[in-house]
Amino acid sequence: MNKKKKIFALILTLFMVMGLGENVFAYTEDPLFIGGKLERGVSNMYYYVDSTAEGYTYLINNAVDNWVDTGYGWNPIYMSPVASNYATDVDFYAYFNDDINGSILAKTSFCDINEGYIDPMVKNWFFAKIEINDVVISQYPTDTQQGTIAHELGHAFGLDHQDLNKYSIMCQVGFGRITQRVDEISHNAINTLYN
Ligand SMILES: [Zn+2]
Repeated sequence: MNKKKKIFALILTLFMVMGLGENVFAYTEDPLFIGGKLERGVSNMYYYVDSTAEGYTYLINNAVDNWVDTGYGWNPIYMSPVASNYATDVDFYAYFNDDINGSILAKTSFCDINEGYIDPMVKNWFFAKIEINDVVISQYPTDTQQGTIAHELGHAFGLDHQDLNKYSIMCQVGFGRITQRVDEISHNAINTLYN
């Protein structure tokens, strides 16, 4: 595949896959929020890193720390790592998919207490599942990988894409995201959503 084609294919496939599998990305404006949020709030979250995602633990912990302490003052986020996915709020997995139709950097899904996928636009979720695509994310620098994990965490908390703002962590890589750190608008959005 030539480089241009490859970049186009990447851009095509960077979109977040929502709970029911549909891609949600075509905005005329950028709403801050998906619609729902974490049922139990964000102030006492537990997260689990599956053995498949063990190699990302350092970056996951950094991305979590970045949300806990954004540098923009107080927010209610607190997260502790745990060794099992029992009753956790956010779970991390990695998978390998070099099928071009499936080659997104990472995706976030939203689940109810029975682990069924829900539509995050209309319902709150009990927990979120973040899946990191090894084969695609490994093509990017580690800083971008960490930024992508922080981006997916933003989805897990209820934030939508900010593709018109390259300085937002919620801008997609395919739309030219410049920062890999939580930005002030996203920080404030959490305070609004979980006030
Ligand atoms: Zn996204």
